[in-house]
Amino acid sequence: MPVNIEAYNTISKEFASKNVTLVAVSKTKPNADIEALYALGQKDFGENYVQELVDKEATLPKDIRWHFIGHLQSNKVKYIAPFVHLIHGVDSLKLLQEINKQGVKNNRIINCLLQIHIAQEETKFGLDETELSAVKDIIESLTNVRICGMMGMASFTEDLNKVSAEFTHLKKLYDQYEQKMNNQVALDTLSMGMSGDYPQAIKCGSNMVRIGSLLFGARVNNS
Ligand SMILES: *Cc1c(COP(=O)(O)O)cnc(C)c1O
Repeated sequence: MPVNIEAYNTISKEFASKNVTLVAVSKTKPNADIEALYALGQKDFGENYVQELVDKEATLPKDIRWHFIGHLQSNKVKYIAPFVHLIHGVDSLKLLQEINKQGVKNNRIINCLLQIHIAQEETKFGLDETELSAVKDIIESLTNVRICGMMGMASFTEDLNKVSAEFTHLKKLYDQYEQKMNNQVALDTLSMGMSGDYPQAIKCGSNMVRIGSLLFGARVNNS
C-alpha cells in the first residue's frame, strides 16, 4: 500500500497550526515509504524495534530525528544511544540508569520521556506514580539524560470517554511534574495519541502524536 500523502498533508497542517509534533511511525515499513514523507519535509520518524531502527538509521538521511517508541530492553540501549533523538518508552529506573550510562559513553545527553501507565488494561507498560516520584529522587545523578516529558497509551477501546479520561489523567500528572522534575529545565513534551485516538489526545493537551497506520496503511502484524 502506498503512503497516504493526502492524509499526511491534512494531518501535518492541522498539527502545525496547533503546535503538535507529528511523529510518523514507520515500523515494519520500507525505506521508500520514509523517503516519500521525508521528501515532503517530514523529519520525525518513530520505530519500535532496535535492529530495524539501526538498519534504517544507517541508510537514510542523517537529519532524520529518530524516535524510539517501543518497549526498550536495557541490554539494547547501546545500539541506539549514539544517534537516537528521543526515547519515548522509559518505564523503569533500571532502564533510565542504563540510558544515562550509554549517554556518558557516547558523550551526549539523551532525551527521554517517562512512559506512564494510564490504561486500565494490564498489558500496557509504564511507570506507576510511586515509581514516578522515585525517578524524581535520582534525577540529579543522571548527568547524561534529559527528561523532556511523558508518554502514555490509552486503552484500546471504542469507548472514547474512557480514552479521554485516561489522557486527562496523564495531562494532570504532567502538569504536576512540569516544573519540578528537573531543576534545570521544565518538561515540554507530552506524547500521547495515535491513529485511532489522536483527536482526543490533542483535546486533552498532547503536543506530540505518534501516527502510523493513517499515513502508511495497516501493518501486516498488529504490533
Ligand atoms: C505502532 C505504534 C503507534 C502507531 O500506531 P497507529 O495506530 O498505527 O497510528 C504509536 N505509538 C506506539 C507506541 C506504537 O507502538
